[in-house]
Amino acid sequence: MNPSSVQAFSDLELAATAVSSGIAIGKAYHFTQIDLKTLEEHRLPVDDIESEMRRLESALAKSLEQLRGLQTGNRDDAADISDIFQIQIQILSDDSFLSNIKVGIAESKANIEYVIANHIRDLEKKFMSMQTEVFRSKLLDVQDVYHRLLRNILDIEHVRVTPLRTMPPGVIIVAEQLLPSDIALLDLKKIGGIVIENGSTVSHVSIIAKSLGIPAVINVPGILSLARPDSMLIVDGYQGKVIVRPSPASEARYQKKLAALPPQVRSCKARKCFTKDGISVRLEANAGSLLEVKEALRCGADGIGLLRTELFYLSLNRLPTVDEETSYYKSILALCKDKPLTIRMLDAGADKTLPYLGFPREENPYLGIRGVRFLLEHPDILNNHLTSILRACADGRSVRILIPFVSLPQEVDAIAGALQDIGKKEGVARSGYSLGIMVEVPAVVVSLRQFLDKVDFLSIGTNDLVQYAFAASRENSRLERYRTASLRVLLELISQVVNSNDKYKRDITVCGEVASDPALAPFLIGLGVRTLSMQTSALQSVCKEIEKRSHGDLVKMAKEFLEK
Ligand code: PEP
Ligand code: MG
Repeated sequence: MNPSSVQAFSDLELAATAVSSGIAIGKAYHFTQIDLKTLEEHRLPVDDIESEMRRLESALAKSLEQLRGLQTGNRDDAADISDIFQIQIQILSDDSFLSNIKVGIAESKANIEYVIANHIRDLEKKFMSMQTEVFRSKLLDVQDVYHRLLRNILDIEHVRVTPLRTMPPGVIIVAEQLLPSDIALLDLKKIGGIVIENGSTVSHVSIIAKSLGIPAVINVPGILSLARPDSMLIVDGYQGKVIVRPSPASEARYQKKLAALPPQVRSCKARKCFTKDGISVRLEANAGSLLEVKEALRCGADGIGLLRTELFYLSLNRLPTVDEETSYYKSILALCKDKPLTIRMLDAGADKTLPYLGFPREENPYLGIRGVRFLLEHPDILNNHLTSILRACADGRSVRILIPFVSLPQEVDAIAGALQDIGKKEGVARSGYSLGIMVEVPAVVVSLRQFLDKVDFLSIGTNDLVQYAFAASRENSRLERYRTASLRVLLELISQVVNSNDKYKRDITVCGEVASDPALAPFLIGLGVRTLSMQTSALQSVCKEIEKRSHGDLVKMAKEFLEK
């Protein structure tokens, strides 16, 4: 390899974790480049220059640490690619690199982001006149370093500035992280595949990619540097692989595989699910859009067990009007016909912030103003939201209303009170809807009896329950071992929920990703759960596994696992 040229890479195969099956071949489309035009100039008061320098130095240290991590990361291909990161480390460690920026700040008395943006622009102009491939690749390295530095200065996990709606069709999105609010900006029909540097199997991006059938892999450290914009990529969402700049032979091999794949339309036979001895199990589907609801019902889901309303909110660039939101729910109810619909109230916050509200970033967003906490802090949004839901069911069509991220009984009282007030105005009686809570914060499992009098049903969100029980972020790829080790604890927690509910007999659904796993779903039935809500793609395989055993066998299997 020519160490000065990333573009010289050919047929570089990188290991990844597959999260959504399928194969995609297309050009890389970066999602983290910062739009320099958005970095405005601020004049610094004289005594702020020192603190600006400190910001620069701490971002520099962080960037170096990241690059060293990427260089030595324990991967099979490390020897091959460490040269790239070595070059970037050299650029960052060069005294003149840092002093140029410092001089820029001192002379212009402008904010560091603005100074760096100007440096990048100057650099691009200078390199533009040098047409050779060697210089071009050098530019890419320096640009990459500057952008890493900027990301660390701005302390942003993601930047949604690329003109995503105008991206060419068939591209492969390459991103450090992709949040639900980013996904809402994408024209999903144009995405061929997704490659994420970090993430986990229960990240929202993984869930959404799977439900939309977009081939996706996660866990590819350094991919943003290795796959430059427009370089060809192959995403293998079956084997968990990415090939950067594939050779003609690799591309031909994958084109052949692609051609041999069955047509996209999922064949799905609708059927009821029973254990071998005839106990009925309801298999419902999780959905975030009309499209997903349609697909779920086509595939025979017994209902929509989790409508993630935040995806509707994220698809707009402002809050919806009551009319818009009501008509969205009405369209979904019309599709569901006589099948039940569970509308989960807006679960904004954490990774699902509404960008157009422009709230300040929280120190610890997953433990912050999320879900019901967010709604109770914003009574106007709550009022419009509940009005829309109740108007949709005003013509006698009952819905299940699910409160997200509950941790205190008072939160349920507050929502129930708001529903009652709005219901009076809208002419919807309490019998016109059921009210339930997400069980996804461990405190609720422990104190469930305080909630059971207040609700009609429970929905166990295992993605967050595991995250909070193990203090292991669901977005962090380095914490996978906590998620895999969690099964026993998770089953204990679910069993505790089922036992606490014994006398109350509320409906219990499990709607986290565990319900979509054919190997794990039977345990949930063994614990006494009768409704699962899952990815549409899992309906058939989960049903098949449940049907293999009698109810007694499933109970035994779960019991033995817990007693092991
Ligand atoms: C969960 O936490 O398990 C869940 C289903 O909700 P979400 O994935 O939307 O947070
Ligand atoms: Mg959740």
